[in-house]
Amino acid sequence: MPLDPENKAKSRYDILFEPMPIGPVVAKNRFYQVPHCNGGGYRDPSAVAEMRRVKAEGGWGVVFTEQVEIHQTSEIAPFIELRLWEDKDMPMLAKMADAIHSYDALAGIELAYSGINGPNLYTKEVPLAATGGPILTFTSDPVNARSLDKSEIRDVRRWYVNAAKRSRDCGYDLVCLYGAHGFGIIQHFLSRTTNKRNDEYGGSLENRSRFMREVVEDIREAVGDTMGITIRLSLDEAFDELSFSNSEVRECIDMHGDLPDLWDLAHGTWENCSATSRFKDEGAQEDLIRGIKDLTSKPVVGVGRFTSPDAMVRQIKSGVLDFIGAARPSIADPFLPKKVAEDRIEDIRECIGCNICVTGDFTMSISRCTQNPSFMEEWRKGWHPENKPPKGDSQSVLIIGSGPAGLEAARMLGGRGYEVALAEASADLGGRVAKERLLPNLAAWGRVMDYRLGQIEPLANVSIYRESALSAEDVLSFGFEHVCVATGSHWRRDGTARARLIPLDIDKDMPLFTPDDIMAGKMPDGHVVIYDDDHYYMGGILAEKLHQAGCQVTLITPAAKVSEWTVNTLEQEKIQQRVMEMGITIMTSHALNAVKRDHVVTACAYTGQEKEYRADAVLMVTARDGETRLWDDLKQRQDEWQDAGISSVKLIGDAAAPAPIAWATYAGHRYAMEMDTPSDKGDDPVFRREVAQLDNS
Ligand code: ADP
Ligand code: SF4
Repeated sequence: MPLDPENKAKSRYDILFEPMPIGPVVAKNRFYQVPHCNGGGYRDPSAVAEMRRVKAEGGWGVVFTEQVEIHQTSEIAPFIELRLWEDKDMPMLAKMADAIHSYDALAGIELAYSGINGPNLYTKEVPLAATGGPILTFTSDPVNARSLDKSEIRDVRRWYVNAAKRSRDCGYDLVCLYGAHGFGIIQHFLSRTTNKRNDEYGGSLENRSRFMREVVEDIREAVGDTMGITIRLSLDEAFDELSFSNSEVRECIDMHGDLPDLWDLAHGTWENCSATSRFKDEGAQEDLIRGIKDLTSKPVVGVGRFTSPDAMVRQIKSGVLDFIGAARPSIADPFLPKKVAEDRIEDIRECIGCNICVTGDFTMSISRCTQNPSFMEEWRKGWHPENKPPKGDSQSVLIIGSGPAGLEAARMLGGRGYEVALAEASADLGGRVAKERLLPNLAAWGRVMDYRLGQIEPLANVSIYRESALSAEDVLSFGFEHVCVATGSHWRRDGTARARLIPLDIDKDMPLFTPDDIMAGKMPDGHVVIYDDDHYYMGGILAEKLHQAGCQVTLITPAAKVSEWTVNTLEQEKIQQRVMEMGITIMTSHALNAVKRDHVVTACAYTGQEKEYRADAVLMVTARDGETRLWDDLKQRQDEWQDAGISSVKLIGDAAAPAPIAWATYAGHRYAMEMDTPSDKGDDPVFRREVAQLDNS
């Protein structure tokens, strides 16, 4: 997408828009959407295709698929990615390439043979690996892979060629050979940790890189005059002392500098590469990648959750990178390149680094994005990250509550042209985000409110009223046509959540706290027991906060791990490590049975055996209840709505059902999108979906 010629001469971002050759093809700019999962994959191909199309529309010069399994002998079910096992798979892959091409981007496909990482739970084939051994998956599947013999290595090389030819026939411009994150057999061959062969494919680096070289040469011979061939490698495997280290990566690139048409470099494990903002800043991989460009004449792409165009320019000008790789920043704002080109930097919807998008893949559901509620809804619901439908017949909307749900509803309804009043009980806008952004290392989460307030500010048709705690009487007296109740939630004090569904026996003399108290500045002291039956980030992060404040913290949870659900955000090990390194006492697999005057009683989740822990205070991180008082009062007075000029009242966000912030921005977005265009389709689903075709052959 060209820069506006008027602005071109003066834009300091010009360098990001230089065309860049990748082998026989040319990317129109340096914005490179690296492969990323989306939880939809082969189950939701049209949803994936439309998501990629929107990225191309937003100006990305290169748009990749997620990982594509090239052969049925290596698959990663239950994870849902893409497959190119036979011609039958081609139409959905071609649809994605076509979608990407509709806006002049290069279409890339990431080919993966998963080796020691593919348990083959779906195909029931014996997994084949560089060197056999227990399958290395997140779920430690009780399956072993067998070492490939030499004729099977030739088979795998042929399968790569078959997949590359099919990719070309689907219309792709770039193939990427996946050898990063521990997920691709290219890496398994390169690493002494996963390659213990003593033939010509094992031992020296030259031998270990033979498979990679052969595959590239085979593909080049088959399709290299039409497609660019890229290799995606881990920058630092960081597994054990034999791992494919950063210095070996450099040696390898030095040895094979001109082998591929581009080097695509990502951190070691996926957890490190896609670290959350709680653990890593923007551009965190720079030390691992700096200097690699000097080892090759081919372009280098790297990632780093880049959302700042100045940081991007610095990466290019200082010779670290040729392309700005991005997965999450492109999810949060598919139009990031276009906004940079148009010098609309303040409109960039910056990724907050929460990894909710990753949870869609981990839970095999479909991905969401906290910042961009339209992600994966482009086809399912026809939502677009930038375009808003025109205003309908209604005129005015009162939104109560300025948390992520209320702010997103106000941004969207204001943008559509409605008269919007946003009322907030407190002096501060932002709801839970305004408080949670102050927790240790969660500052980037504040972007959820900063972006929305920045977008709302210029809208003359949106009025904001702070310190306006509204009652039902207030609402009925105002005369707004529509009322949106986004009043949020509060943490429970009585210990009920999952392990316990009925209130705990709590001595009234024990000082009792909830996360709301802590975030409001009301702090305990002495020995504090944190009871976490919530399992997302709050228990672990408050353990850190209280420890930093000088409390002696004991973290008790019925789960087997600290902040167990954060397995899905790739954070769990880092959180547990941090909590352990702080010296916080951890008691997993234990539920709270009673809270006494000066101690708590726990019960083992398995045996029921009871134990006592001294406590000067207890912090309950258990469950939240929707703040529904206003909603309940309004419902009680439903017969007065019509006379008050109210045609609808809706409860949304945490007030309706507490959940992560992404659920709230989604709820606010949906409310605004459905204003005057309800999605009601009778008893049918409110989104489009694809259903497997019966094969009657
Ligand atoms: P969500 O995640 O659903 O957006 P939050 O808890 O982040 O919810 O935000 C809810 C906001 O609603 C809070 O800032 C709270 O102060 C505000 N609020 C709650 N009740 C009222 C009320 N009756 N009038 C105005 N604002 C309210
Ligand atoms: Fe970024 Fe969070 Fe959106 Fe993922 S879900 S793209 S980490 S804001």
